[in-house]
Amino acid sequence: MGILSDAWRAVKGAVRWVVKAATTLVTWAANIFDFLFGFLNWPPKNLTLHIVILSKYDPIDMKIVPMCQPSDLQPSIDQAERILRERFNVKLRPYAPQYAQVLGGVAPEAALKPSCCGADPFGQEFLEQGEWYAGHTAGWVAAIPTSLRFPITAFVVEDVQCKSGCAIGPLTDYLVIDMDGVNSTGPRLNNSTLMHEIGHCCHLWHFNGVTNLMWRNSDRGDGTKWWQRNLFRNSRHVTYW
Ligand SMILES: [Zn+2]
Repeated sequence: MGILSDAWRAVKGAVRWVVKAATTLVTWAANIFDFLFGFLNWPPKNLTLHIVILSKYDPIDMKIVPMCQPSDLQPSIDQAERILRERFNVKLRPYAPQYAQVLGGVAPEAALKPSCCGADPFGQEFLEQGEWYAGHTAGWVAAIPTSLRFPITAFVVEDVQCKSGCAIGPLTDYLVIDMDGVNSTGPRLNNSTLMHEIGHCCHLWHFNGVTNLMWRNSDRGDGTKWWQRNLFRNSRHVTYW
C-alpha cells in the first residue's frame, strides 16, 4: 500500500465518523422522548441485527473454513432477544431473512484478527480492517445510510485480541466477536457477549457492577440502570419502525 492510498483510506474513515456523528446528533434530537423517559420502557421499539461470519484459509486442509455455522449463534441471539425484550422493551429482528450469513471468500487477516487492546479499535478504523468492516456493514453504502433502521452488524472473527468482543460505540454501526465471545459462560448468564457489545453500539459504556449488563467480564448479569435505558432507547439503532 502506498502512502497516498493509506491517506485516502484515513480520509474515508474520517468522513464515515463525521457522517455517523451527525446522524447520531440528529437521531438524538428525534428520539428526545426516550432520552428523557426511556426508563419507562414504553412504547415498544425495535432493533435490527445482521451477523456476518468471516472465513479463513486453512493451509493444512487447504480449504476455506468459516469461523462457525449460523446455528452456532442461536444461543447468543436468543440471549440478546430475551434481554432486549425484558430490560428495554425492544424487539430484536433480522436485517436479512436470516440473522447470520457466512461470507464466501477469505477475509483479510486484519479483519480476522482485530485488536481491541487499549485504543487500538479507534486507530483501526482508519486502516484496512476499518475499511473492510465498513464495506460489509448492513445499511450503508460508503458514507450514505440506506436504511433508517440503522441495523447493527456483528462480525464473527477468528480472534479479537485482548478481548472476546468489542464495539467502538455510536461512531460505527458494527461490533466484532470471536468464538470465545459467542460461547461465553458465566455464573449468571451464558452467551451474553453479543448483547453486551450491542449495548456499546447503543450509547452504553462499562458500568462498575457485576450484576449489570455493561460489566466488562462474562460473569456479568443482565441488570440495567434507569439512565442506561434512557441512553439505550435513544440510540439511532433503536427505532419505532
Ligand atoms: Zn465492553
